[in-house]
Amino acid sequence: MSPIAAPTGDSKVAEWLSHPVAGAVVREWLADQGASERSIAPAKRLSFNKLIKVSGGRFTQEMLDGMIAETARRMAEGGEPVAAPAASDPEPAAEAPAEAPEWVERITEGRFTGQTVVVTGAGSGIGRATASRVAREGGRVVALDISEARLKDFQASHDGLDITVVTADVTKEDDIARVIEAAGDRIDALANVAGIMDNMTPLGEVSDEVWDRVFAVNVDGVMRLSRAVIQRMLPRRSGSIVNVASEASLRGSAAGVAYTASKHAVAGMTKSSAFMYGPHGIRVNAVAPGGVATNIGDTMSYDSDLAQERLEVAMAILPTPVTPDQLAASICFLLSDDGVNVNGVILPSDGGWSAV
Ligand code: NAD
Repeated sequence: MSPIAAPTGDSKVAEWLSHPVAGAVVREWLADQGASERSIAPAKRLSFNKLIKVSGGRFTQEMLDGMIAETARRMAEGGEPVAAPAASDPEPAAEAPAEAPEWVERITEGRFTGQTVVVTGAGSGIGRATASRVAREGGRVVALDISEARLKDFQASHDGLDITVVTADVTKEDDIARVIEAAGDRIDALANVAGIMDNMTPLGEVSDEVWDRVFAVNVDGVMRLSRAVIQRMLPRRSGSIVNVASEASLRGSAAGVAYTASKHAVAGMTKSSAFMYGPHGIRVNAVAPGGVATNIGDTMSYDSDLAQERLEVAMAILPTPVTPDQLAASICFLLSDDGVNVNGVILPSDGGWSAV
């Protein structure tokens, strides 16, 4: 019998998982991290090399090298008796589609020159990528986040650009007042990006604590800051607000009830505000991201067997996660004057997930 080739960094995660030796190595490694095959299901179509690139440090070259070495060691020893991949595995290696060519960001020089743009959640993920792109396209960015350390890191890595950081909690009126003061009289645009996940519980199991916390950040925070910013936009009869909704704004199968309801509320706030303020020169839109490789997993847990079983069905059609920069491209389009004729849309930025 000819030996089965060991997977490499170019092999897809699905191929690793279906390999009789490497599959066990990956599963054991995931268990050590407190994760499971399920938690990387959306990444099954990515090669490990690509996963390292998009994971924002969660997967590293050292980890991959360690798994390659361990697989080689076990294969040299004749392989271990390991479980074959489940028959229901939706991604058998042979059927995994080819990886798309890498997307390359193209800066639009000066797109935000002369503008002050407030970005929430700017310390990480989509908010950080958005704040970065606005600053690199000439804007003055007022970057806020609840995490001072993340903001410091963001500012340090954008030396020489016009960035004011404000450590602030979007759920607190006093903090919002400090943000508005830091921004000054003129605010051209606002990106409401800060948000948290829930614990994937359905309505019959959700706790008051989870519900209240998720709504406080994802809904009250967007309302409070937007309410204050609109007062600065109205006298100038100009402004653009972009809210970060979610695939969970469009369907019931992307998260628990608290997150799903909160993101539907964001969609409602977006449409109401677009309708009310369109004639006053203020556009209000939202993007609905699919899976994006960020730190949001830190705010998420799976606390319901019932929901987990149901969500697994939906997760099988999840497109592979993208990088925060790819979301920032959609957000910056809507934030900028390029979005001149767009008002009140909930723009899916999800690789086509919402078309399924
Ligand atoms: P992230 O965790 O990487 O970044 C979110 C940032 O918001 C963090 O830096 C966090 O400190 C900050 N934040 C949290 N609570 C805050 C508060 N009360 N006040 C101020 N800042 C606060 O996550 P991300 O994936 O970049 O999430 C950004 C937005 O995108 C969220 O609204 C999220 O719901 C949405 N979204 C993300 C995904 C995804 O797959 N990552 C998918 C759909 C929607």
